[in-house]
Amino acid sequence: MRPVTIGVLSYQGTVIEHIQALSKLEGVTPMEVKTLPALEAVDGLILPGGESTTIAKLLDIFELMEPLRQRILQGMPVWGTCAGEILLAKEIVGEQHHLAVMDLTVRRNAYGRQIDSFTEYAPIHGISETPVELVFIRAPWIEAVGEKAQVICRVNGHAVAARQDNMLATSFHPEFTHDLTVHRWFTKEVERHKYSQPQ
Ligand code: GLN
Repeated sequence: MRPVTIGVLSYQGTVIEHIQALSKLEGVTPMEVKTLPALEAVDGLILPGGESTTIAKLLDIFELMEPLRQRILQGMPVWGTCAGEILLAKEIVGEQHHLAVMDLTVRRNAYGRQIDSFTEYAPIHGISETPVELVFIRAPWIEAVGEKAQVICRVNGHAVAARQDNMLATSFHPEFTHDLTVHRWFTKEVERHKYSQPQ
């Protein structure tokens, strides 16, 4: 494993959990990202779970929304978990979009109040063909995908993860489990992207 620096957008949400998962992986230097110099220093970025409206507000306040959008469009690997998925989506049912880089329509808090948190097991195609533990907390689901995005995981008939080029979105939180499968997969993507670039 060649060395990579992976950032976690660190305004609010499951920041510590992602940093802890990344620190268990060989070759990875995790880094909190709040400012432009930090964004420029990372090879890939995780957008954590939390409250998408709060994180979006802070992206605006720190003037990071547009630079982050540009880095994603230029190919930096990015993975959004839950609120992070909402930030990436081009459409949010009934609400304004944020980064709007991924060909997804998502519905916030889609599972409603009664089952707002639950755990399921399902394969994530291309990442793990054996079922992995999926933790949902006031999660969105993916209501529709455009031509460029591909659904890679479904639970009870609803799409809950998708890929598009350098982007991964999951409605669930691997950072709340002991299973490092998705973090390991993302790290490999970051490594592949970093070392395929002219240095
Ligand atoms: N309900 C949150 C939102 O809409 C997402 C929840 C989470 O990230 N666990 O932003």
